[in-house]
Amino acid sequence: MRFMRKNKDKDSIKKRTVCLTYQVLESILVYAEHLHPKEGILLLRGKKEKDKIIVNEVVIPPQAIHGEGFSAFPTFMLPMDPTIIGSAHSHPSGVLKPSPEDLNNFYGRIMVIVGYPYNPKNIAVFNREGETLKHEFIPD
Ligand SMILES: [Zn+2]
Repeated sequence: MRFMRKNKDKDSIKKRTVCLTYQVLESILVYAEHLHPKEGILLLRGKKEKDKIIVNEVVIPPQAIHGEGFSAFPTFMLPMDPTIIGSAHSHPSGVLKPSPEDLNNFYGRIMVIVGYPYNPKNIAVFNREGETLKHEFIPD
């Protein structure tokens, strides 16, 4: 039995390491903590390299809505910006896994989740399929 491959993306991001600069890390942690116990969401800007995805800037989405266990922003408000490579949001529950809603509303190529308590050990990065991607922190 053969399965159709849904994802024909040849440069699969599965093998890539997602690199977050220290500044991006700091911004995500501070933002998450600031909004706690509400969920916060940020957009990530960066670039693809051969075997890496470098995230070097965070962008606060326009008209972001913060709620408990819920964060969203109207995607039609967003500029068509190819430098946005994904999003980051917090899980005040501490669960380091994307919810079905997270995967349904996937934006960009990567999804960073930071769980409570917000420290560098409580960060995970996922692809569109909800699979964990390797990540590391790099100097700015
Ligand atoms: Zn979530």
